Amino acid sequence: MASTAGKVIKCRAAVAWEAGKPLVIEEVEVAPPQAMEVRLKILYTSLCHTDVYFWEAKGQTPVFPRIFGHEAGGVVESVGEGVTDLAPGDHVLPVFTGECKECAHCRSEESNMCDLLRINTDRGVMISDGKTRFSINGKPIYHFVGTSTFSEYTVVHVGCVAKINPLAPLDKVCVLSCGISTGLGATLNVAKPRKGSTVAIFGLGAVGLSAAEGARLAGASRIIGVDLNSRRFEEAKKFGVTDFVNPSEYNKPVQEVLAEMTNGGVDRSVECTGNINAMISAFECVHDGWGVAVLVGVPHKDAVFKTPPVNFLNEKTLKGTFFGNYKPRSDLPSVVEKYMNKELELEKFITHTVSFSEINKAFEYMLTGEGLRCIIRMAD
Ligand code: NAD
Ligand code: ZN
Repeated sequence: MASTAGKVIKCRAAVAWEAGKPLVIEEVEVAPPQAMEVRLKILYTSLCHTDVYFWEAKGQTPVFPRIFGHEAGGVVESVGEGVTDLAPGDHVLPVFTGECKECAHCRSEESNMCDLLRINTDRGVMISDGKTRFSINGKPIYHFVGTSTFSEYTVVHVGCVAKINPLAPLDKVCVLSCGISTGLGATLNVAKPRKGSTVAIFGLGAVGLSAAEGARLAGASRIIGVDLNSRRFEEAKKFGVTDFVNPSEYNKPVQEVLAEMTNGGVDRSVECTGNINAMISAFECVHDGWGVAVLVGVPHKDAVFKTPPVNFLNEKTLKGTFFGNYKPRSDLPSVVEKYMNKELELEKFITHTVSFSEINKAFEYMLTGEGLRCIIRMAD
């Protein structure tokens, strides 16, 4: 047992006091984990768009002061009552969505949408007692998606923690907590392209490029990247993308462009933009008879998907996915193994590294669209 077990830990955390204002490194008190919770020492964390959206809080429920962060790697410091499958010293990835292993979804092989621990971006407290585990001079500081990894120590529900190979370098595999697994799983678990097939990827951000990485792993022979921003194409070459289409350079719908390039349509498409028109094109560009389109992007809440139903009669299939259909605790350890046995490449996603005190730089990189992932090293 760590000597800190059962005690309040004082440590550094990057606190968002107000929407859109730079984070401030503060000394916070982190309470011990309660029943079915674990306290983690975070070693590396990275920044994803979701942190930025809720930090900007434009159109989302503002919950402040808050500690953001949900892509991370760390070590278990102590465990609360009832925790049997994790112990101090275990290497883990915290995840923004969970797996209680008891609800109907967790018991179903087909779902990863746990009833108990499914993502809730409005909740800033722990589910067991409705309280925070973070405070400054007794004043509560709220959690974010149950992970709050922009802190040297954090408390997480045991169902949101994947135990991984202790030999895996946490400064690399931390990116598997969210975006990279989402895109990878969208292709490998949902689109399931056959060897030698043609896959179109709409949107070449971190999620789309990880979907492309999935297509490469599945042995696709042609990977067509579709993006409105031609600057994304150079980077995409590193991810095995073979062809590029910028829809703004054509005066016809991109689905027609793709049909002409592929003799009738692509075998699979994965949409990673969040744009409703891209979603419709991603569906309509698949081949009749066998084509499958997978939606990953999060659309505007008022968006409506419109397509002639005859597309379905012509045997085009439309699917969607949440977190690449991975069950966090059961499946993430094997994704880490794919990296360990050199199938999956993660280095190419990591374009920046900063120390914890420079965390606001990671926000600047994301806001200016520079690079893919910025790793934040907790130790200075
Ligand atoms: P990103 O902003 O880095 O990349 C999106 C890319 O799409 C950009 O390069 C942009 O130029 C391109 N794009 C936008 N509109 C387009 C259009 N109409 N046609 C072609 N390209 C277009 O974003 P990201 O971090 O890679 O995330 C992608 C999407 O995945 C987001 O909507 C995000 O919210 C979503 N997401 C979903 C899940 C899930 O579980 N379903 C998980 C994480 C992220
Ligand atoms: Zn569950």
